[in-house]
Amino acid sequence: MPDQQQILTTLKEYFGYDSFRPLQEEIISSIFKSKDNLVIMPTGGGKSICYQLPALLLPGVTLVISPLIALMKDQVDGLSANGINAAFINSSQHENEQQEIYQKILDKQLKLLYVAPESLSFLDTVLSQVVVSLIAIDEAHCISSWGHDFRPAYTQLGYLKNKFPKTPVIALTATADKATRQDICNQLNIPNATQHLASFDRKNLSLEVRPGNKRIEQILNFLEERPNESGIIYCLSRKATETIAEKLQNQGFNAQAYHAGIDHQKRATVQENFVNDSLQIVCATIAFGMGIDKSNVRWVIHYNLPKNIEGYYQEIGRAGRDGLPSSTLLFHSYADVVQLQKFADMSGNKDVQLAKLDRMKQYAESLSCRRKILLSYFGELIVDDCGNCDVCKNPPTFIDGTILAQKVLSTVTRIKEQEPIGTVIDVLRGAQNATVFDKGYQHLKSYKIGNDIPWKDWQQYIIQLINQGYLEIAFHQNNKIKLTSLSKKVLFENEKISLAHLKDFEKAKQIITEVSSKTKANSLFDKLRELRLTLAKEAGIPAYQIFSDATLKE
Ligand code: ADP
Ligand code: MG
Repeated sequence: MPDQQQILTTLKEYFGYDSFRPLQEEIISSIFKSKDNLVIMPTGGGKSICYQLPALLLPGVTLVISPLIALMKDQVDGLSANGINAAFINSSQHENEQQEIYQKILDKQLKLLYVAPESLSFLDTVLSQVVVSLIAIDEAHCISSWGHDFRPAYTQLGYLKNKFPKTPVIALTATADKATRQDICNQLNIPNATQHLASFDRKNLSLEVRPGNKRIEQILNFLEERPNESGIIYCLSRKATETIAEKLQNQGFNAQAYHAGIDHQKRATVQENFVNDSLQIVCATIAFGMGIDKSNVRWVIHYNLPKNIEGYYQEIGRAGRDGLPSSTLLFHSYADVVQLQKFADMSGNKDVQLAKLDRMKQYAESLSCRRKILLSYFGELIVDDCGNCDVCKNPPTFIDGTILAQKVLSTVTRIKEQEPIGTVIDVLRGAQNATVFDKGYQHLKSYKIGNDIPWKDWQQYIIQLINQGYLEIAFHQNNKIKLTSLSKKVLFENEKISLAHLKDFEKAKQIITEVSSKTKANSLFDKLRELRLTLAKEAGIPAYQIFSDATLKE
């Protein structure tokens, strides 16, 4: 085993660095002890050196399995530029080229050999004739159907440990929850691998979740507070990236769309302009971001709910690489949940996808520190609340919500569980609209029993009741709100319920009352409209949360 000095000299000589980043050193030394290792480190954390450096000091060749042909070439070019003998084998190459590389392997000229998993079998004979010192499996989450980017070709990789039982294996990935981690190790036949978990905590990223109503309006307010700061808006559909970019352009913002359907040249230009700061905003599908090197992305907005926490984490992680404070904003809407559930239903591993979506929803609906939820997903526990998420900045206080709950549940009973959340609220508030009149809901006993509470607050309370299991959304029946087995405890057994108090609203209402008492009655409505934004700022909450125009009129 090489000594500490030798290792540091190699780091400096070949990579130009004076010191290691967290975990790199312990991982490298574990490799030299011939142990198997699983490395979980965020993107940009420095995973490559963990196998590239040992490769230089080990006697034989290091085999690197990597799924992305394009990235493979970049890696090998980079290594060659540093004077390291490396090559790659994949299906894009000519046979002559491959023969040349086989010869280099046999001549023991190569220190690193990158291979796509599909091409591995061609190497069988050649590899039997040389010493394989280390096997590195990059993007190792691809082996697990528990992961979010399953690739069938990866499942064959388990045989490597059988073929080279004495050769240490290092599996690396940026995204794997606990179940996926164990699955990776099992499938690679390295069940006892040492797991190295780098911290996923990105303290400089603030976390915020808002209900997805009037998203464009909210985004415009958000941008107004951040003049010229660059950021990414992630959308679920290609179409949305284009319509949102257009709406922003119409408001004078420097924004462009990016998705896999846009032609190659145009995409390259968007990416380039974004990286060199001549384009402020990219509205993109998740196709955008991988391999993009831009450290001053100041904010990331998710226009739609992502389908799992791995993806969400990776996408918000593109903000604030320079370590400076950066904002992330996620819009949460039930329409998105429904859409994503449909996608999950159609996918090969439906149950896993649905479970992951559920975790994503729990995150979005959390009433406690969001960072704790995020990090615990990756197996990391923090003791103190983070102080840099919307819940920590504005923690809820709880009230006795029993009567509120009874009002909702009895309304749902009276409309025979046949309506989505909006209509439930309309009935509660005594709305006078077509649905209500067509179905005769104005005659129900429940009609208007909740007109003292604003629409948005009812929505929040009902979502809380759903989260607590007192109601559920029938996603396959047009999102009708249904009772659950717990509902009757509230209706008939007087079960007490706690709900988060929407004190933002109280606070705003108080400010508005104070202001309106100083304002002439006839101009009150206009005044309030005008003042809404200012007031919201004073209260430190989004304007839409105060009053809708309709509420103001009342
Ligand atoms: P990952 O594969 O984890 O996403 P990379 O291995 O590509 O990350 O490394 C990300 C960047 O960090 C690269 O530019 C790399 O050169 C740099 N880097 C890695 N280790 C160190 C180090 N010890 N000191 C300084 N920079 C490092
Ligand atoms: Mg990498």
